[in-house]
Amino acid sequence: MVEPHNTESRLPHETCNIVVVGAGGRMGKMLIAEITAAKGCRVSGAVDRPGTPSIGTDAGTQAGIAALDVLIVDDAAQAIATADAVVDFTSPDATVDHARLCAQAGAAHIIGTTGLTPEHEEALHLAARHVPVVYAPNMSVGVTLLMAMTEKVASILGDDYDIEVLEMHHRHKVDAPSGTALGLGKAAARGRAVDHDAVKQAVRDGQVGARPRGEIGYATLRGGDVVGDHTVIFAAEGERVELGHKASNRKVFAAGAIRAILWARGKPPAVYTMRDVLGLNA
Ligand code: NAD
Repeated sequence: MVEPHNTESRLPHETCNIVVVGAGGRMGKMLIAEITAAKGCRVSGAVDRPGTPSIGTDAGTQAGIAALDVLIVDDAAQAIATADAVVDFTSPDATVDHARLCAQAGAAHIIGTTGLTPEHEEALHLAARHVPVVYAPNMSVGVTLLMAMTEKVASILGDDYDIEVLEMHHRHKVDAPSGTALGLGKAAARGRAVDHDAVKQAVRDGQVGARPRGEIGYATLRGGDVVGDHTVIFAAEGERVELGHKASNRKVFAAGAIRAILWARGKPPAVYTMRDVLGLNA
């Protein structure tokens, strides 16, 4: 049961105090560096899970920039209590815990974590009764536009065109298909006005038979240090339309997250997406 500190996130003011959870992670470090360089923002707290080597070290030093005088701590509740916003690229269970803490503290919650189940997402919706939550499996502006284009193209082409979503990520990624690939498939399903889960085909192995009409297929590649490649293929007899995006640097996700943080200040409690942040739902 969430007892909110107040019913709205704090209103915009000079500097946005941001707590980075997952501060010792790949995205956490990038966020610390980019938030420190951004106007109107400061890293006011940094959290990682108990027992990780980064606990007790300086967040700036961990991120490869000058020391910030902000230590990475393992007490998320205490760090989040005074935050204006919390930026969260961690794990699904951790994100749900942080959502409850953000609701209690009145802090906007910007979530990039992927691999959430419907139960996890339900918990975010409960927290979003109290604070603005921006939840996006891909925070890059380019991918947000790709999603909008995918929905539009799917709505025009119809099911003469077979839809396949191809993605490649680095070897450390733990969930598959990527949250972004699933987001693209869902955008295509919305465009076609069909139930995504009823047409999703994430695994093909062995004698699977001819491709059913209307299926939305996924192919997952893993290897090396690939930051994130996504292609949506619309294949018909006689032509193929391909929409794609390649991220070559995690900075694009951090830049989108910072845009979301600044946008979310003072917004009414609700779950928002990057489409809202970019004004594509207006
Ligand atoms: P990572 O493993 O390098 O970092 C995750 C960090 O979270 C680690 O430091 C880990 O210790 C920490 N963590 C885990 N549980 C925690 C807890 N309970 N409290 C505090 N910290 C905790 O992973 P990464 O590459 O930085 O990615 C993290 C997540 O972000 C993944 O789900 C990934 O798919 C997602 N991601 C999303 C986007 C996007 O644009 N939305 C972009 C890149 C990565």
